[in-house]
Order: sequence, then structure tokens, then C-alpha cells
Amino acid sequence: MTEHFDVAIVGAGISGIGIAYYLKQRCPDKSFVVLEGLERFGGTWTTHRYPGIRSDSDLNTYGYSFKPWVGSFTATAAEILNYLGEVINENGLASHIRYQHHLEAVKWSSKEHSWTIEGVRQDTGEAIRLTCNFLSMCQGYYRHAQGYTPQWEGMDDFAGEIVHPQTWPQDLDYEDKEVLVIGSGSTMSTLVPAIAYDAKHVTVLQRSPTFFFPIGDEDNLAEQLRALDIDEAWIHEIVRRKRIYNGQLFARRAAAEPEVVREELIAAVRQQLPEGYDVETHFMPQYRPWQQRIARVPNGDFFTSIRDGRTTMVTDEIERFTEQGVLVKSGRELPADIAVTATGFDLCVFGDIAFTVDDRPLDFAATITYRGTMFTGVPNMAWVFGYFRASWTLRVDLVGDFICRLLRHMDQRGCNSVVPTPRLDQREMPLSPWVAPEDFSPNYIRRALHLLPKTGDVPEWQHTQDYWQDKDVFPAIDLDDPVFVYR
Ligand SMILES: Cc1cc2nc3c(=O)[nH]c(=O)nc-3n(C[C@H](O)[C@H](O)[C@H](O)COP(=O)(O)OP(=O)(O)OC[C@H]3O[C@@H](n4cnc5c(N)ncnc54)[C@H](O)[C@@H]3O)c2cc1C
Repeated sequence: MTEHFDVAIVGAGISGIGIAYYLKQRCPDKSFVVLEGLERFGGTWTTHRYPGIRSDSDLNTYGYSFKPWVGSFTATAAEILNYLGEVINENGLASHIRYQHHLEAVKWSSKEHSWTIEGVRQDTGEAIRLTCNFLSMCQGYYRHAQGYTPQWEGMDDFAGEIVHPQTWPQDLDYEDKEVLVIGSGSTMSTLVPAIAYDAKHVTVLQRSPTFFFPIGDEDNLAEQLRALDIDEAWIHEIVRRKRIYNGQLFARRAAAEPEVVREELIAAVRQQLPEGYDVETHFMPQYRPWQQRIARVPNGDFFTSIRDGRTTMVTDEIERFTEQGVLVKSGRELPADIAVTATGFDLCVFGDIAFTVDDRPLDFAATITYRGTMFTGVPNMAWVFGYFRASWTLRVDLVGDFICRLLRHMDQRGCNSVVPTPRLDQREMPLSPWVAPEDFSPNYIRRALHLLPKTGDVPEWQHTQDYWQDKDVFPAIDLDDPVFVYR
């Protein structure tokens, strides 16, 4: 007998746990299972264990709408895992989650109106086989087993250790060592202050600068409301709305007056650095603000480590590794005992799971997305892909609500499957990549754009990356619209 569920959720990260909460609350009659390859929940916050690992989003929007966040503005991985653990316990979700269930294939059958899920148990090696009607893909967007490390000449000659933050050895001894961190983003700026005071010295080697935004780690409004003895649920909602509102203002300004916002961001960084510091070389990006993620720096600690002389910035390109370190194009050799490649993620589409629809292999790059969550030719499936310019989890609340509405609507209509399909007048619409490079262009997306689904020329067939519109649009989606083809 193959075990069957109404819904299978793939992944027990912040997305999968959130969707499980919505199913339990809004569709109590539906059976569901959460299938997770790792040995515990948390996804990103379990995989990444480098020193200092923390969010750079505020937790009022990175936390769920339904569970108040009572800690500081940002949070460590341990605090986020604790929060997720509470969500699991308070809502009786633990019995729904199956760990060490690594999925390899999912197969849709139009005849059965169901998905067959196959994989391998990581603890016993046993084969997994179960079926479900609806698939909620919460597998994230990158390969958890390994990060992205470019190949440079001479890496084999290097006498030191090369480490990627995603697979940080827990026993790595960096005390009194020369550490070279290669990279320029949020991982770099999080890791550096956490190791800079134990290492002999940290050198950051970046090819080009990133926008940073130093922030305080307390929310004044939350503290004021707390002093008035306001209920934590209210504080969460009020502060969350303030953050959403401010986020919208900032994103709109970054698009409307990029030069003004650029100057503001650079001025804020300049303020953190000693007088005469070469901000032009190290902290003036070539791209527009928000064309790549802006790395927030809680308490400006990354800049403190520069001010304290513990961290040195080098903006240059790698020529090759040498025995003692790295030779850069300008001819300098940067000494290193440890080289950390904070060079990003290895994006993978749908958890490297092989999809078939009626025995035909599915190429997601040949599909068009319905609002960034469903896909043409793929019945009964929804994906959570969060926001670049707002907290990822804002999307979880929207998609969770949408899936529950859709499942209830299907029951009311008495049908078994739904697939989004362009209306007749949309069949010839011009198609574009998942995200336009001039809109948002981090390297991990550029490297994998050819693998991602396509978008159309109207918001309905795009992931607009605009939470501030989506928050009104998603709850109002007309499920009887002809784009939803029910069977
Ligand atoms: C270091 C770091 C910091 C970040 N900070 C922020 C931040 O501050 N704010 C923000 O908005 N975003 C941030 N992000 C983006 C972040 O990825 C999302 O916020 C969020 O954690 C994604 O959650 P998720 O549940 O969708 O995916 P993930 O956290 O990636 O979890 C996916 C889960 O699915 C499982 N899975 C995948 N494939 C399979 C398979 N084939 N079989 C079984 N299980 C599978 C994985 O094991 C994993 O547990 C950060 C990302 C990183 C890497």
C-alpha cells in the first residue's frame, strides 16, 4: 500500500513550516506531510553554521504574520531556529514532518490526479514512495549540500585551507591565522566581524563593491510600545506594518531617484569609517541601489572591525592562488592561512528533483509562471520563492493563504486538478527570463537564469517582486478566472 496525503510539502525551512501552519489552520480536513532531506527543520538556518550567522532582515517581517517576534531587530540562526521550533510545537506540526527524506523524483499522473513522490531515506537508505494530490514546493532556491566556489588557477598549490561558509568546518581554528575572505555580500559582512577579533588579521578581497546599510539592532517603536504594556501581538503587527511601509518607500525611492539613494547609502557607510578612508574604491558599487540585495549591517559591526584595524578591504581581481595566498591582478600577493570563499550559492531549480508530467520529463525553463508560484503544464503545484527587496517570509503568508483558498475552491467545484494556462489572448505574449537582469542581477541568479521558468508581459504571468502590490493582489485572486483550468 502506498501512503497517500492530500498535500505534500517539500522542505521544512521557514517556507515549509509556514505552509504547514496554514494548512493546519485553514484546511483542517486535509491530510499533509512535510518531507525534509536534512535531519532537522530550519533549512537555511540549519545548513549555514559559520561564525556570526544571522538574518539581515528585521524579524517583524522575516517572522510570520501569525507569530509575534519579541526579540531584537535582527536575529541569529539559533534564535530563528528557536522561533521556528515554537511554531512547530505550538501548532502540533511535529508529527507531520519526516526528516532525512531526500526526494529525487515526483511524477504527475493525469489519470490518477496525483503526484507520486520518490526518494531515499538518509538514515536507513530505504526507498521512499508516497502519493499526494497537491505539491507545495518549499525547497528554497539553492543546493544545500554545497556552496558556489569559482575555480581559480593555483588552488591546488595553496598550502592553507579553503573553506566555503556554507560548509564551515565546526572545528576550524582561525585563531591567530591570516584569513582571506573572498566575497562582497551579506555573508562576508556577517562573517568578518565574528572572526576578526580572534584571527590574526582578516583581509576581504572583493572584485567589486556592494551597497551596505548600517542599522541599529533595536526598534524604537517596539520598545516604546512595550513600555506602554501593549500586547506583543499588537506590537508585532504595528512594527511589521511600519517596516512594510518603510520598505515600500525605500524600494520606490531606489527606483525613482537611484542617484539620491546611492548618495545616502554611501554617506551612511562613510560615516562609519575613519576620515580619509578610500570609500570610492571599496564601497561605491557600479549598479543601482536594489539592483542587487542591499546588505544590512546590524550595529555597523563590520565597519567597526575595519575602524579597529582588524579588517582590511582589497578591491581587485584574483590572478591565481599561490602557495602562501592569493596573487591579485594589480600584482600584490595577499597572504592567507585560510581562504574563505564567500562567493555565494549554487542555485538549483526545485531541489534537483526530477519532475515528470504524464511520463514526460518536465523542463521548468519551458514553463511560464503564474504570479511566481504556479507553472503552465504543471498541475496541482505551488512554489514559494520569496522577495529580493523584502523579507522572504512575507511571501510565505501570501502563498499559504492562496494554497488554502485554492484547495477549498477545488473541493467546492468538485474537481481534482488545476493548472494555470494563459487565456486565448495571452497565448502569443512575449516571454522574458524569470527576472530581468536590469531589474535584479546578483551572480547566483545570472548563472542559473536559463534554468528558471519564463515570465509573460503582464503581472499575472510574472513574479513581480513587488510585495506591496502582491499583498493586495493575492488575496483578491479570482479562482474562477479562466486562467485556472480545472479538471
Ligand atoms: C545565509 C543566508 C542568510 C539569509 N538571510 C536572509 C534574510 O535576512 N532575509 C531574507 O528575507 N532572506 C534571507 N535569506 C534567504 C533565505 O534563503 C530565505 O530567507 C529562507 O530561509 C528560505 O527559506 P525556504 O524554506 O524557502 O528555503 P530553505 O531555507 O532553503 O529550506 C529548504 C528546505 O528544503 C529542503 N530540500 C531541498 N531540496 C530537497 C529535496 N530534494 N528533498 C528533501 N528536502 C529538500 C532543504 O533541505 C531545506 O531544509 C538568507 C539566505 C542565506 C543563505
